Amino acid sequence: MTIPTGKGLIALLLLILVAVTVAVSQRYMIWHYTWDTPEAPPLLDQVDEGPGVRWHDNYFTVQALDARTFAIGEPRYYQRNYNYLLLGTERAVLFDAGPGVRDIRPVAQALTDLPVTFVPSHFHVDHVGNEITFENVAVIDLPYLRARAPDNRLQLTDREHLGFHEGVAAPTLEVDEWISAGDTMQLGDRSLRVLYTPGHTEDSISLLDVDSGQLFSGDFIYPGPLYAYLPNSGMGDYVQAADTVLSSAPAGVRILGAHRDRVPGAPQLTLADVQDLRAALDAIRSGELSGEGFYPVRYRINPRLRLLADPWWLQDWTPRRPSLASR
Ligand SMILES: [Zn+2]
Repeated sequence: MTIPTGKGLIALLLLILVAVTVAVSQRYMIWHYTWDTPEAPPLLDQVDEGPGVRWHDNYFTVQALDARTFAIGEPRYYQRNYNYLLLGTERAVLFDAGPGVRDIRPVAQALTDLPVTFVPSHFHVDHVGNEITFENVAVIDLPYLRARAPDNRLQLTDREHLGFHEGVAAPTLEVDEWISAGDTMQLGDRSLRVLYTPGHTEDSISLLDVDSGQLFSGDFIYPGPLYAYLPNSGMGDYVQAADTVLSSAPAGVRILGAHRDRVPGAPQLTLADVQDLRAALDAIRSGELSGEGFYPVRYRINPRLRLLADPWWLQDWTPRRPSLASR
């Protein structure tokens, strides 16, 4: 082999540069197609869920967190999703609808006669219910989402849905209500504040019930590995989300996430875990905390939490929407 010189060398270097740029920008897709198979693993075995949790059928579990707050679990789905039904006096909110492996609507209907509004914490395949259609849907009001849905029909993209992991097509959401960061959703005598908590994805929200001291955090935080290396993740966004939660949630708030790491019951964390996450983000940024592996890099936050992120030289610490911080 002869080593090119002159124009040949420049062309070769340009070719390498283009290849590296494409590989970096498409790293998540390359990782996915290298390691993944496009279908969900089989259902896990049904196990004893402990006191206070009952099986609705052989797939869903129901746990009353108080008289009008229910965790609807899918512990047999490999991602062990938890969805929350929140009752007011005039309407109910279903925060997340699972992957649609089974229809969650009859579970909600067995728990309330109120009209139910479905609110996705974000648009990933395991939260939006996919082929399930809801009568009322409320979605975070972000300019780029509104621009895509002039008729209130929001077609999710593969990048924000990631259903190709499991062979599931991205659905279209029929949006009835656009909810803004800092808005309060009124359910009658119960109100839920919408917190913009990006980082895991650009479109992530949490719902805060100040009166009952509950924060429903979606995939922003839950016990287990937190994913911050996905196509629309951001480290600066994660910092913003942690700050918003720390400045908004009352002391002693019970944080209820969307996935669990262990039996029994719904996944629960406290503000101390968010403080640990916030401190870890600072330490990652400054280089004090190093992670394991190359892609994704695994950072230990505390005994129950890890953060999976891009390598340091690809981490983006600029928040996309700083104007929505602490709202
Ligand atoms: Zn997610």
